[in-house]
Amino acid sequence: MKIGVVGGGQLGRMIGMAGMPLGMRSVFLEPAPEACAAQAGHMIKADYTDHYAIRELVNQCDAVTFEFESIPPETVEFIAQFVPVYPVASSLKIARDRWLEKSLFQENQIPTAEVADISSEEDLEEAVSNIGLPAILKTRTLGYDGKGQKLLKRESDVTNAFKELGEVPMILEGFVDFDSEVSCIAVRGRDGSQAFYSLAENEHRNGILHKSIATEDHPLQSLAEEYVGRVLDALNYVGVITVEFFAKGEKLIANEIAPRVHNSGHWTIEGAETSQFENHLRAVTGLPLGSTRRIGHCAMYNLIGRLPPESKILEIPGVKFHNYVKKAKPGRKIGHVTVHSADQKTYDDACDRLDTLIQNIL
Ligand code: AMP
Repeated sequence: MKIGVVGGGQLGRMIGMAGMPLGMRSVFLEPAPEACAAQAGHMIKADYTDHYAIRELVNQCDAVTFEFESIPPETVEFIAQFVPVYPVASSLKIARDRWLEKSLFQENQIPTAEVADISSEEDLEEAVSNIGLPAILKTRTLGYDGKGQKLLKRESDVTNAFKELGEVPMILEGFVDFDSEVSCIAVRGRDGSQAFYSLAENEHRNGILHKSIATEDHPLQSLAEEYVGRVLDALNYVGVITVEFFAKGEKLIANEIAPRVHNSGHWTIEGAETSQFENHLRAVTGLPLGSTRRIGHCAMYNLIGRLPPESKILEIPGVKFHNYVKKAKPGRKIGHVTVHSADQKTYDDACDRLDTLIQNIL
């Protein structure tokens, strides 16, 4: 079976790698000249809107998916005329737009921060007077890793904020004084079956995910599954989805959806009975979903900007190294390591050693 993947980054690379044992081969559509997914399949180097290239992709593939949400939904709609493509374009449209995303949560009785739709300076002033400060102004589309947003702490921050973010459609969100950030990765098959991974507790540095810990018996696990299950059914979703939440006391406050495999789920490669990548492929191709059961203690650290020496990583018991073979650049995700052990002490020691090793390359 051949799978088309729109996008050619590390997520595509890991989808391609997960397909190999299942006899699936991957074809990627990606304009970037040195895209790392090329190591895991055939690459069609072209823009995401290039209809000739898309025809070349669909002619080779039995099903198509995508590995990030900045691709135009029209591309997904075009592909759907020829082969099954999941997640469907309507899910992508919602996940790309923070206002539609928040509306989806609210329509399904899932708590969010206070939120207002902003399309002018006047809207912003009115929303600030209703929601109060601090608040966060975010562009409706194309924001990621903390980009396209501004924290408004005091009145003087409000003055030029609409201009600074480019006078595009935005939302204003009340600031949530959360205890922690968690993500729920789930998968829904073509037959509507659902499965959920252990909640990941996520730690960010400079707006980029630094570490994800797969939690054990998190007290909010079943609430998260209830909320994410509602989203999956509301979207008639197929594939892996990620919903990011703020956890505060006994509450979960939904922040955003990623309609794809997710960085906070990389621990599932070694740490779950079926990885998020394999389950995504199973869902997209109509195969039965695999068990999402976590095996032992698991965490994942991103390697950003620079890689520590390979031997220093590999000498740590319980640690696996994933090198995306990407050009190193400040702020760029170029690899990750997972920690996975049935033994608490091995796991704790590995995390301590990785904390030091990663601190040393910053
Ligand atoms: P986002 O692009 O929405 O994922 O936001 C990036 C990061 O900004 C989140 O991971 C949070 O740490 C922080 N953040 C976003 N929205 C809020 C909010 N309403 N209240 C507090 N922190 C937030």
